[in-house]
Amino acid sequence: MDTFHAMFWDAKVFVNKRYHYLNNEILVRYLNMDTGMMENLYNELHDCERGITLRMDMIMEFAERQYNERVQKTQQILTKIDNLGLEMPPYKEYLAGKQAYEPRLIACLNRYPHLFENGVEYGPYATRTVYPEHNSYGYLTTDDCDGEKFWLTRFDPSKMLERLEESGNEEDGSIFIQIKQANEDIKSTISPYLCWLEDVMRAQNVYAKLLDKYIHIRHGFLKEYELAEQLERYLKTESLVGRSYLRLAPVRPQAVTHEVFRPQEGAPILCDSYDFDSIGAFLYTDFFRGLRNNFLPKRCGNCGKWFLLTHGKYSDYCERPLDEDDSKTCRSASSRKKYDDKCRTDPVWQAYNRAYKAHYARYMKKKMTNAEFEKWGVYAIKLREKAIAGEMEFIEYERLLKV
Ligand SMILES: [Zn+2]
Repeated sequence: MDTFHAMFWDAKVFVNKRYHYLNNEILVRYLNMDTGMMENLYNELHDCERGITLRMDMIMEFAERQYNERVQKTQQILTKIDNLGLEMPPYKEYLAGKQAYEPRLIACLNRYPHLFENGVEYGPYATRTVYPEHNSYGYLTTDDCDGEKFWLTRFDPSKMLERLEESGNEEDGSIFIQIKQANEDIKSTISPYLCWLEDVMRAQNVYAKLLDKYIHIRHGFLKEYELAEQLERYLKTESLVGRSYLRLAPVRPQAVTHEVFRPQEGAPILCDSYDFDSIGAFLYTDFFRGLRNNFLPKRCGNCGKWFLLTHGKYSDYCERPLDEDDSKTCRSASSRKKYDDKCRTDPVWQAYNRAYKAHYARYMKKKMTNAEFEKWGVYAIKLREKAIAGEMEFIEYERLLKV
């Protein structure tokens, strides 16, 4: 994935100076990803990487018949991951329609054309290579400097094996250097994809656990010292062994600079600014800023999807419309349900509700003015709160409600 620039100010994030988000808004999106297939992709890609590493002891038959299949399969996985990434912020916004898709592994192997068969035959008197328009190994194209280049689409390292044989024990060395370089290049082409998968899986395995079990421990925001204690408690549960996506991996030190940013509206602001080379490094930085600003992802108690709690307003439920009735949201439906439950089971609420209905009927029959009804409403809520706090006998409470 690409490197991107992010500036932080207050609870806001500006990506590449254009795209605005709130702290942890992006993490919420990653938490809501369907990550069931990520682990499979991750394991498959690890295997593929081993399969396409160029080995000096490769068997000719494998080179001719199976190597290409593995390359194509690996490229398919990379393309799938690229497509998944392009659906996610911030890439979705700032890469939208910007560039033609480049199959990176194919491009990587094309940097080492001398190791692969290209099917070109050399005539006995030819002074330069004459490529066909296309054959089963690839097609003729032009490179950046307008020179002819034969672009490989099928990879058969039998040429590498022939050259290895020819070089024998001679100290020619260049073939060995090329193989080593190609293998390093393959590794550095694939490793950002493995990192991306780890970052996505870390959201599900680490941030979700930390938030669910250590931060949302009561129906409200924690105080600063409580947050610190809870984080400490969580970190003690992390094991130093095992897969890195099971740990809240601290990111490499990022150079922070300070930049003045002029948003389209409003006065200039002084931001902390970073260049991120991975989504994981961004999420880590953003997460802790969000923690301090009380901008926290929370799993909805009704639909189970993650949503963002913004500062000062805590809720257990999100504001997505319900599937069965889009005039209601998880939040409105759940608070209504809580209220109904209370009215059904709690005697203090039952008495309040009965009295409310009686007064409302009086008001409808014009036996009470609007002002009188409102005044009674305030009075009744005060009584109810006293009764809940145990500051009043229940009989007294019921009597006073009827006034
Ligand atoms: Zn919900």
